[in-house]
Parts: sequence; C-alpha cells; structure tokens
Amino acid sequence: MSEIIKTTAIVLNSVPCSVDAARDLELFSPEMGKFFARARGVEKPKAKLAAATQPFCFGEFSLAERGGRYTITDVYVHDTFFQLAYNLDSFVVGSSLLEITSKLAQTGEENLSLFKLLLTALKVMAYEKVNPSAVFIKFIIESLAISGYGLNFKKCNGCGKSLDDQNSASLIYESGGVLCHGCGQHTDSVKLSASEWQTLKQIVDCDIDSLAVLNDQNFSREILVSLMKDMTKQFYFRTSEKLKSLDKYF
Ligand SMILES: [Zn+2]
Repeated sequence: MSEIIKTTAIVLNSVPCSVDAARDLELFSPEMGKFFARARGVEKPKAKLAAATQPFCFGEFSLAERGGRYTITDVYVHDTFFQLAYNLDSFVVGSSLLEITSKLAQTGEENLSLFKLLLTALKVMAYEKVNPSAVFIKFIIESLAISGYGLNFKKCNGCGKSLDDQNSASLIYESGGVLCHGCGQHTDSVKLSASEWQTLKQIVDCDIDSLAVLNDQNFSREILVSLMKDMTKQFYFRTSEKLKSLDKYF
C-alpha cells in the first residue's frame, strides 16, 4: 500500500498521456515546490477529475506515491479560475504567469511567497478585473525578487542617488536593474520615457492585492505593452529563460 499525501497546489501544465486515458500534470505546491503527477482516466467522458486536471486549477490534491512517482487519487477543487478564459488578455497573461512560476519554482523546494504571489495574481485578474498587463509587470518584478533577482527601484544602480524624485530612469540588463536619468545617458540601457517611468513606479509601489486601485488610472495600452516587453527582457537576462506563452505577442 502506498501512502496518501495531501497538498494544496495549482496546476501549471497539463498534457494528455498516451496510456490509461491519463494526463500528466505539472503542479506547484507551497510545501513541495514544483512536482509532476499523473491523473488516470481523466480523458474519459464524464471523468470526475477532468476539471481538476486543467491549468489554473487550485485545490487540495491527494497523491499516492510509488517509487518517487505521484498519482492523483482525488482533488478537492477550490477554484478553476475559468473566468480568465473570458478575456483573451487575462488568459494569455495568466498562462504566462504559470510558465514563469514553472521556470522559477524548484522541485522539492518550499516556496510559500511565490505560491501566494501566483494565487493573488490569478485572483485579482479573475475577480477584480485588474488590467492583465499591470498584473504581468508586477508579477515579474515580485517573482524575480522572491527568486533573488530583484530590481532596486529605490536607488540608482550607478551613483546611488534616490530614484524617488527622478522624472525618468533607465533599466539595465546586468545587476540591480535601474539607473537615474543622468547615469542612463552614458550607459547601455533601456531608456524609459517619463510616462513609462511613472506608470512603472505606480505598479511597483502598489501591493499586488491592491492593484485594483489602479483600475481607474487609464494607463495607455502602448506604455503597458512597452513595459511588458521590458520586463520580459529583464526576466530573460536574469534567468536565461524565454517565455514561450508570449512568443506570438512580442
Ligand atoms: Zn545615477
């Protein structure tokens, strides 16, 4: 008899498997980190666990372990975040957050901060209709910080001057990330316009679960898209990982 383990988790990825009408899932749990498990029989019509084995599903998973492999025996679903599918931008960003988490989470490594961040990001997009681009930008910044690749938005990486009263700034690819206007002028960096910097600062200064307060800001789509690209680049330069889920958009 194998022992049953119970853990809270979010499904990051799910692919059909050639045997047993099964799906192979990639899951992320605050206690177990990233792990893989097979759900048998879920491809059959009316399978009880079918909805629980799709990406975004957040629930309490019961797992049987045998020889280091997990099989899902039951799931108590807390949320499937199906609302994300009603809005293409939310769905695309949501999928990219699952991918970023998959790249940052380590197998067998506890990571409550990243788990909370992902769950909150999905909730604010699904229920508070927060602009998905703002959620994406915030998520990259926070998830990189949790993973030890944080950008310092408080002080210039070059001269150490406070960035609080700067009208614009630059992002650099190496080290801590942000330069004041002066230092940015003579360094290879991505120069942010005054409005890009203001928008970025507002997102940085706001907690992820309060992002809804920015809903009335009417951020320009162009600025948000440009900041999303900059953050995707920051992610790449810090982790050497490309985000496939955004490939056709950027
Ligand atoms: Zn400086």
